[in-house]
Amino acid sequence: MVTPARLPVIIRYLDQEYFRPRFAPRFSPADELVFTILSQNTTDINAGRALESLKKKYPEWEEAARAPVRSIASAIRMSGIAGPKSRYIKETLSELLAEHGDLELGFLKEMGDREALDYLTRFPGVGIKTASCVLMFALGRPVMPVDTHVFRVCKRLDFLPEDATREEAHWILNAIVPEDDRYSFHINLVLHGRKICKAQRPRCGECLIEGLCPGAILEF
Ligand code: SF4
Repeated sequence: MVTPARLPVIIRYLDQEYFRPRFAPRFSPADELVFTILSQNTTDINAGRALESLKKKYPEWEEAARAPVRSIASAIRMSGIAGPKSRYIKETLSELLAEHGDLELGFLKEMGDREALDYLTRFPGVGIKTASCVLMFALGRPVMPVDTHVFRVCKRLDFLPEDATREEAHWILNAIVPEDDRYSFHINLVLHGRKICKAQRPRCGECLIEGLCPGAILEF
């Protein structure tokens, strides 16, 4: 797949407007996995509070893996849809524990990116975005997650077909975005999506990449 000529220019503009972050792990792999499950259909703030509450109740993930689902659900209520999320967390942690004997997830370091994605997406509630977050944010691997902001902004920028699914978007973007840029591009697209390229009313008149964007809405 060929990288569009506009893409490197847009990446540089966003780096200048926001920043060019260097990788620093935000959580351990297991914390990142649970956090990303908790963040489904809610804000990062609520997911962070739920993670904190769950870790307070179960300081070791091995304890959460053995806990009743209803007990996990009561600790993560603030993240919403606590029923399904608690089942996903319980089943995923207990299956990982049974297979590996601990929940360090150190085995991921021995796997290639594709192998690790395929492995993680076998677990309940772990889609390609969640698996990519574990690889990128905990392990610093060049696997760019496609969240709601990345998906929306990249469609407007015409880097994705209008009818692309999230999974298709994952493979397209990870093919056209250079490896060294995936971490900063993901972070800056999320910032840009929250601040300027909003879901309902994109602020194209204030957008630094308006001249490079086929989806720009002209304001008169
Ligand atoms: S020009 Fe508008 S649609 Fe395009 S990236 Fe900027 S805010 Fe989004």
